[in-house]
Amino acid sequence: AIRIGNLHKSYGATPVLRGVDLEVAAGEVVCVIGPSGSGKSTLLACLNGLEPFESGEVVVDGQHIGWGPERGGARQRVPERAMTLARRRIGIVFQAFNLFPHMTALGNVMEAPVQVLRRPRAAVEAEARALLARVGLAHKADAYPADLSGGQQQRVAIARALAMQPAVMLFDEVTSALDPELVGEVLAVMRKLAEEGMTMLVVTHEMGFARDVADRVVFMDAGLVVEQGPPAAVLGNPREPRTRSFLGRVL
Ligand code: ATP
Ligand code: MG
Repeated sequence: AIRIGNLHKSYGATPVLRGVDLEVAAGEVVCVIGPSGSGKSTLLACLNGLEPFESGEVVVDGQHIGWGPERGGARQRVPERAMTLARRRIGIVFQAFNLFPHMTALGNVMEAPVQVLRRPRAAVEAEARALLARVGLAHKADAYPADLSGGQQQRVAIARALAMQPAVMLFDEVTSALDPELVGEVLAVMRKLAEEGMTMLVVTHEMGFARDVADRVVFMDAGLVVEQGPPAAVLGNPREPRTRSFLGRVL
């Protein structure tokens, strides 16, 4: 599960997140939509500890990220070591294909469990092959990223994140850089993951995916959650003028 309370984050003097509240229950799929620059990627970066933030509470899978719990009115930064451990429980996939180019698909999926968790290669390899099969790429285990399509690379990236057995998965516009005909195969993998009960926070422009798969849709604008609710309500009958105007532009 994920809990974000009153999260504030600035880049220099520019506030980017201005008091974000958001919860994702275990097994829930939440899609985040909103205009460019509204703070969606920054929110994910704060969630997995990639970006420090000024204030607020972020708890993922029971672990505080960034700032520890308040004690006697004061808070302390979570020590780097604890952050590293917490981060292992958070899988993240980005828009840009960022596989290790010098490793095969199998090597990419095996890398973190072997190097970070120091698990035995044989067990990790068996799991990695099973994960590649799960994303439909058993036959590409020995292929290098350069020889895979964008859609295949993104599916390897998902398998690689799953290899760490994350408690939650974060997706940041993972289909935005794909040719249109490759979008469906990646969304299908994500849909299956959702059906299997993975806790997912999905930043996406794919309104069809949000409508069909999300338990809840969150609309962000200018660093705030403006509106959230069931997909049918937020996408079909939004309350807020800003949501309506955004949907009018993208749908
Ligand atoms: P998009 O839909 O285009 O991906 P987004 O909702 O993900 O947009 P963010 O990338 O979170 O938006 O950016 C929010 C704001 O923060 C923007 O105004 C952006 O210019 C600014 N910003 C993002 N990253 C940095 C950075 N590293 N340094 C300074 N400003 C940044
Ligand atoms: Mg973004």
